[in-house]
This record gives sequence, C-alpha cells and structure tokens, in this order.
Amino acid sequence: MTRTVYLNGEYLPEAEAKVSIFDRGFLMADGVYEVTSVLDGKLIDFPGHRARLARSLHELDMAAPCSDDKLLAIHRELIAVNAITEGMVYLQVTRGNPGDRDFAYPPADTKPTLVLFTQAKPGLADNPAVRTGWKVISVPDIRWGRRDIKTVQLLYPSMAKMAAKAAHVDDSWFVEDGFVTEGTSNNAYIVKGNRIITRQLSSDILHGITRSAVLRFAAEAQMVIEERPFTIAETQQADEAFITSASAFVMPVVEVDGAALGHGKPGPVTTRLREIYLEEMRKTAI
Ligand code: PMP
Repeated sequence: MTRTVYLNGEYLPEAEAKVSIFDRGFLMADGVYEVTSVLDGKLIDFPGHRARLARSLHELDMAAPCSDDKLLAIHRELIAVNAITEGMVYLQVTRGNPGDRDFAYPPADTKPTLVLFTQAKPGLADNPAVRTGWKVISVPDIRWGRRDIKTVQLLYPSMAKMAAKAAHVDDSWFVEDGFVTEGTSNNAYIVKGNRIITRQLSSDILHGITRSAVLRFAAEAQMVIEERPFTIAETQQADEAFITSASAFVMPVVEVDGAALGHGKPGPVTTRLREIYLEEMRKTAI
C-alpha cells in the first residue's frame, strides 16, 4: 500500500508530494515540527502537541497554518487512510516558499508549508528494548540557545546519534557546563530511591510533552520530583535512569559512559512509570 501524505490542503501519494527548492524549511531550517504517537489507532496526548506547536510558531513569529480542529482532522484522516494502529504522525510547518533565497523573513502573508505523514511502527508499545534498557554516552551540547522551540534544525542531534552508533550504544546525552541537558531526542532523568531528578524547564531543553505527563503521574504515585540539573557522575551513582519522548514513552537507561547503573538492568521505578504512562495515556487517546 502506498503511503498517503498531506501537503498544503491535499492528500497525495507520497511520491507526488513535492515542496519547492525555495522553501524556507529546505534552505534555512526555518520550520517547526511535532511527532505524535498512535496507539490503538488513536493519538496520544494530541492537546499537548497542539499546544507546543502553537508555542513554537509564536516564538518564531510564524502564522498558524490552519485551525486546531483542522489539524486534528488531518491527523485522523492520515491514520485512517494509512491504517495505522501503532506508529507516529509527523507534522512540519515551515515559513513557506518566498520564491527566492533571502535571510530576511518573507512578507507575513507568505503561505506556510504544512506537511504531515504517518510512520507505521507495529510493536511501538511493546518495544523489546524496554526489557534490556538503553546504553548512552555523553557528548558536549553545542546546539543553539533556543532548544525550547521544536525546530527542524536537527543536524547536531543527528551527529550525536551517529556518535552513539559508532560507540555501539543507543543514544547520546548532551552535557553543558558539566550538567546533562537532555538526550538527542528525549528528556533525561535519574532516580535515587523515591526521587525522580530531571533538569528544570528553560530554553536549555525541549519542554517534552511526555515529560510533563510523566512528572504528573509520578507525583500522583507519591514519588518526589526534583527539577534541577545533574551530572554524568551523579547519574553513574544513581539507582536508575531513563528517558522520555513521544515515541519511546519511558525508556530505561542502564549504562552511561561505560558505567552500569544499579544492577545494569531496568529498575522498578522506571518500569512502573512506563506502565502508568501507557495505561493513562491510552485512556485519553483520541
Ligand atoms: N528533547 C528533545 C531534544 C527532543 O527532540 C524530544 C523529542 N521531540 C524530546 C526532548 C521529548 O519531547 P516529547 O516528549 O514531546 O517527544
């Protein structure tokens, strides 16, 4: 079955969806994106992703491409026509095609480019990696200073993912001024006893939609939340570590820079948080 994608008002076979070479997303990485997971054919935390998209657009003085209702309808239509039971919907909005290359933004009435496509990922919730956990290495965080905006400038995170692959591990954690910021495409946490420690929100990190839900569920489960920076050394002494993202949900981290955490196996707090997260989010999926 060929995949149907959405481009600027049209549902098209993927091979027919074409964007201009002058598109600001292509030339300037002048665009923002969201990735929403699909479980049981339904969107996980769509309101969270919609709200963050609005914030990213606002921070970059970009116009909303369409109404929120329309955005939800497009997501749903793509899930239906592509028969997605488990997977993701990727959405990207760019500042559009001004017809030439220029550093200055084009006139405000330039039509944004809106692209959405689905990715089928059978077994997304029952990911076997959860049973063994991820190994990570640390790399310097040399990204720009507005990591709270979810832009498509992902070259350095891609490089960091390649550094992880070269080291035969699963991901990289970024470190700035001695403290962990986040993972290449996820938020980072450590666990000490009943305490969950994760960096506080600022422009240093992306404000994860999964982070916000997981911290809410952790608090409801009487866990203590400490939002503060932590180091790699503190991580290596922690009982457990994990990451969160819309597509990995809650993923255990069992090794950091070659040092095994706890017993080198996913720990009980992480496992419990993943269970609660999936259970609760399935309830509110739309
Ligand atoms: N940090 C970064 C740098 C990311 O790219 C992502 C994933 N988009 C996250 C954190 C996690 O965010 P979310 O839970 O909203 O997927």
